[in-house]
Amino acid sequence: MTTQNRLLEFEDKRYVWHPFTQMEDYEHEIPLIVKEGSGVHLWDIYGRRYIDGVSSLWVNVHGHRKKEIDRAIIDQLKLIAHSTLLGLSNIPAITLAKRLVEITPEGLEKVFYSDSGSEGVEIALKIALQYWRQIDDTSGKKTKFISFENAYHGDTVGAVSVGKIPLFHGIYKPLLFDTITTPSPYCYRCSYGNTKEECGGECLKRLEEILKNESETVAGLIVEPLVQGASGMLKAPKTFLSQIRALCSKYNVLMIADEVATGFGRTGKMWACEHEDVSPDIMIIAKGLTGGYLPLAATLTTQEIYNAFCGEYGQKKTFYHGHTYTGNQLCCAAALANLDVFKNEHVVEKLFPKIKALRKGLMRFAKLRHVGDVRLCGFMVGIELVKDKKTKESFLMEEKMGHNVIMEARKNRVILRPLGDVIVLMPPLSITLSELKDLLDVTYNAINKVTKSS
Ligand SMILES: *Cc1c(COP(=O)(O)O)cnc(C)c1O
Repeated sequence: MTTQNRLLEFEDKRYVWHPFTQMEDYEHEIPLIVKEGSGVHLWDIYGRRYIDGVSSLWVNVHGHRKKEIDRAIIDQLKLIAHSTLLGLSNIPAITLAKRLVEITPEGLEKVFYSDSGSEGVEIALKIALQYWRQIDDTSGKKTKFISFENAYHGDTVGAVSVGKIPLFHGIYKPLLFDTITTPSPYCYRCSYGNTKEECGGECLKRLEEILKNESETVAGLIVEPLVQGASGMLKAPKTFLSQIRALCSKYNVLMIADEVATGFGRTGKMWACEHEDVSPDIMIIAKGLTGGYLPLAATLTTQEIYNAFCGEYGQKKTFYHGHTYTGNQLCCAAALANLDVFKNEHVVEKLFPKIKALRKGLMRFAKLRHVGDVRLCGFMVGIELVKDKKTKESFLMEEKMGHNVIMEARKNRVILRPLGDVIVLMPPLSITLSELKDLLDVTYNAINKVTKSS
């Protein structure tokens, strides 16, 4: 057994290039190789059990080996795994589209499938641009996109173009199209130097200014509703989202809501948009869509947008886009089972007391000497570590604080994945109160120990 495991560890380093991972560091660490999962737990090849504190990168909402989803995939497998959606259809893709239209914000009527959040974003951008070309305004002027500072929308080139995290996106600049950047509410480090109390909505004022001057050239605005995830769980102030909606309507710009991270109960409601009764023109969902089982994404649009793509064949209004696995049956069957679990087990309703417990459990974190800010929105948590709480000075990148904290947590059987020096907690929604307590205890102790906070 042990020799086999050692061989796996060796071959992992020998052959696999891991995403978002400094491989030079990785090669000097003992890799954690997952063998099994069940509920909120993962087991490595040595049989050690860990809490999956980030839902296997924000996707696994009901825990691993969820009986109903296992079953749905097996049942579907007995019929067919895949047939194309290009010009053909299939049963789970139809049923899922209907269910998604029923449960997403009002006005979203059509579902375009793809395989990842990034692709879902690319599709949204292309649809928005083509939409303006094909409605009677044929001036072709509305081609630009507005996105927020600190935005993250995925790693493909279009998604990176609307992304605004210098560390991830800076180097690719020569590949990217031009976008308009508008300030985002990173309230802990407000660009206008305000405290939360002093905030006069400067971010929105700036956005309105941009729209006033440039909306004629703008096809759409893309936003992560309520929380900018990958930049460190930056939570927008109340009404920010609904005001964006109002501004997009006022200035005739499509509002694209990227719910890839926030969807499927993460924020305490099924969709972040629900908190402020917002209906975007285009919405992208992915991460939680199959309950963390299979890669599937969907871009939803209004009927009005869809209509702009209908016409005679020769008018070339077709949306010329489609990935090979679009609408794959196994993925759609998993997603349907996922939605059934949400409904039958009242997952979102049952989350409420857990969010309360999480909020309460996080209070002591704020008192640690090197914890600058604790951000929580539903079941999305970001704990920002700082060198100096007073000045908010960050640790040096080479100190690898975030990384060191999660490696310490790993020794205590909790798997986390930081965003720089922001420690992220994104547990499966199915986590029990006692598992949640364990997760918080291990995280607290790891931060305390690594940052020498007490
Ligand atoms: C993760 C994420 C994406 C990209 O999704 P992938 O499936 O990783 O391509 C896009 N937008 C947001 C907000 C995300 O969190």
